[in-house]
Amino acid sequence: MDKEEITTVLRCLSCQRETEHRLIYQGEMVKSIICQECGLEISFDKDRLLALYGEDLVKRVLTKPRRITEEYKEDLVKFFSSIPFRIITKPYRILKEIDSLRDD
Ligand SMILES: [Zn+2]
Repeated sequence: MDKEEITTVLRCLSCQRETEHRLIYQGEMVKSIICQECGLEISFDKDRLLALYGEDLVKRVLTKPRRITEEYKEDLVKFFSSIPFRIITKPYRILKEIDSLRDD
């Protein structure tokens, strides 16, 4: 399996503070990022990210590095904190909440 995970501390969009996140890589790219505190699962629309940030940055941050360095983690934190919410394709929990509102 070419599926791999790392954990790192990022600022959660839902918790509004720094929490541990699991980063799941599929192939060479980050597939999703999951907050270990609240379970918010975030995946990205790669095309939109590329349009917004350009290929160099997206590749540098979202491609699995050969070695997880402190520098890489810093880049990741900066990148993650600058992502506009609308670019996130699957704020899992929020979608579920919207669904449950509809049921009422
Ligand atoms: Zn969270």
